[in-house]
Amino acid sequence: MSRVLLIGSINMDLVVEADSFPRQGETLFGRRFATYPGGKGANQAVAAARLGAEVSLIACVGQDAFGAELLAGLQAEGIDTRWVQQVAGATGMASITLAGGDNAIMVVPGANHAVSPAQLDAAEAAFAQADVVLAQLEVPLATVEHAAMLAARHGKPFILNPAPAQPLPAGLLQQVSLLTPNEYELAVALGSQQPWQQLLASRPAGIVMTQGSLGASYVDADGVLRQVRGFPVMAVDSTGAGDTFNGALAAFWSLGLAEAVRRANAAAALSVTRHGAQGGMPTLAALQQFLG
Ligand code: ADP
Repeated sequence: MSRVLLIGSINMDLVVEADSFPRQGETLFGRRFATYPGGKGANQAVAAARLGAEVSLIACVGQDAFGAELLAGLQAEGIDTRWVQQVAGATGMASITLAGGDNAIMVVPGANHAVSPAQLDAAEAAFAQADVVLAQLEVPLATVEHAAMLAARHGKPFILNPAPAQPLPAGLLQQVSLLTPNEYELAVALGSQQPWQQLLASRPAGIVMTQGSLGASYVDADGVLRQVRGFPVMAVDSTGAGDTFNGALAAFWSLGLAEAVRRANAAAALSVTRHGAQGGMPTLAALQQFLG
């Protein structure tokens, strides 16, 4: 099992269920309220840790109650949080309203904006110890670029989940060992409207594209398009499917791309059978049982 170093976001998701969305200036009663731990960095860290990986996380939370609660939750998952800093201000949050089968979401990055290149330098020992480094785009791009550089300096593979979608500088792309977008994120990341098959072929074995229930595709080192079928399940909530996929891919990195993608598909399929991002992430035992 791999030692995974994560650089990414930690959020508290504040979820209101209501019959309708309030209009500007209007006050309504909602039906239900709950908080859920989230943020792509934390989600992917939890996914990898549940699958048995040794996970370290470089991130920031605020000096507030959410920060303390989220940090304790990550520690309870067995994640090494010694590199997580508590900074002045608010912990990252997402305000989510669910009504009539639709959603409205407002994200306030808060402390996630404080994850800096200097913080990574202070944690350079973590790069030296890792088998694989994994990041997303919910912390400053300069920090992601610095993470890629440090991973390269220590000869460690760097997986970048380019979400939320944004165009990536050529210099960063050069240092990414594996990009893990969905179809939309792929086009935005590479700034190209070419068909996805051509984009995958432009970087053999360097991109795995997720495709929801269809699974995932990549072009292998021999230039052959590999479509790895998804596992048929009763999907109830696809929140966190991509995060589970990425965490699993890093956790199973040592098995090689084909097997890591197969297991990531299985873990992500299991995650959509249960509610919530982290709530649905399987343990190694659950995954093994599912795979038979
Ligand atoms: P994102 O939510 O980031 O766009 P995807 O929807 O592509 O990500 O899902 C990520 C992965 O989760 C897929 O590659 C697949 O392995 C798994 N997955 C997602 N939805 C389903 C589903 N309905 N059934 C089975 N697997 C799924």
